[in-house]
Amino acid sequence: MRTADIFGKKTVFSLEVFPPKPDADESVIYGTLDRLSDLHPDFISVTYGAGGGKNGCKTIRIASDLISSYHTTSVAHLPCIGLKKEQAADILDQISASGIENVLALRGDIPEGGQAEGDFAHASELVSFIRENYDLNIIAACYPEVHPESKDAEEDMVHLKEKVDSGVDHLITQFFLDDRHFYGFRERAHRAGIGVPIEAGIMPVTNKKQIHRMVDLCGVELPAKFVRMLDRYGDSPEALRDAGIAYAVDQITDLAAEGVDGIHLYTMNDSNIAHRIYDAVKNII
Ligand code: FAD
Repeated sequence: MRTADIFGKKTVFSLEVFPPKPDADESVIYGTLDRLSDLHPDFISVTYGAGGGKNGCKTIRIASDLISSYHTTSVAHLPCIGLKKEQAADILDQISASGIENVLALRGDIPEGGQAEGDFAHASELVSFIRENYDLNIIAACYPEVHPESKDAEEDMVHLKEKVDSGVDHLITQFFLDDRHFYGFRERAHRAGIGVPIEAGIMPVTNKKQIHRMVDLCGVELPAKFVRMLDRYGDSPEALRDAGIAYAVDQITDLAAEGVDGIHLYTMNDSNIAHRIYDAVKNII
């Protein structure tokens, strides 16, 4: 199913997983998918390492298995940085041939030390390429707190509008820890004429080191309430896990009450946390 066809009827609930590392036991991800598919998500998206490395085959295989073995709609991520058009076409041919109908078209992070060689400078160019050559539903990323490379919110929104106009069917946000960033962004997007559904990305934070790394990388603000939680529970993994789940549930509850189009849960491949969050919000979303 195309993700764009799911919106409007309900609050969409989707999950994100990443493929196993090259030398990791592949069976683990299938155990995770077994448990995640019990939640009957509207779709599961599978990340893809930037640079077109071999691990991308796993993204396509997992996204394809989700359809054939788990009867779950899937999305294959595709970062275009460093890719030539022929390489992108090769990957997109495989995606189409595998029966996957949805692609999350991304640029990917610029590698340290400068720009990678490739035919695509921005995700919008990949979106146009897919729209011109493939019959796929296209999803793209957006940033409620502004992409770290953008000068300001206005410039970021101009480029987001160009990207959507290139052929995007639905957007998924970077995670945020203060829902007010999402509401402000959604309003600015509507004012800019962006009419496609916007799913809110939620990252349950259960590990102190991980959150500091993610916040540095993604330019996400740590609200005072969140910092108090980290200070109080950060040294106890069990307590931080409970508090992080409660925080995510609180965010989702508020977003659902405010009529969010969908919730995209960054599961970090932890099916227990996804289950606990889903159990707490299943009658809300
Ligand atoms: P773009 O839309 O190209 O935007 C990047 C920057 O360029 C922004 O500052 C934008 O304003 C600016 N820009 C855009 N167009 C122009 C233009 N014409 N002129 C000047 N500036 C412009 N990364 C992975 O490697 N693999 C994944 O699987 C993955 N999944 C993700 C899923 C989600 C939901 C999100 C939010 C991010 C994901 N990422 C992934 C990370 C993403 O690749 C990075 O955030 C990357 O830095 C930007 O990607 P983008 O597609 O948003 O880029």
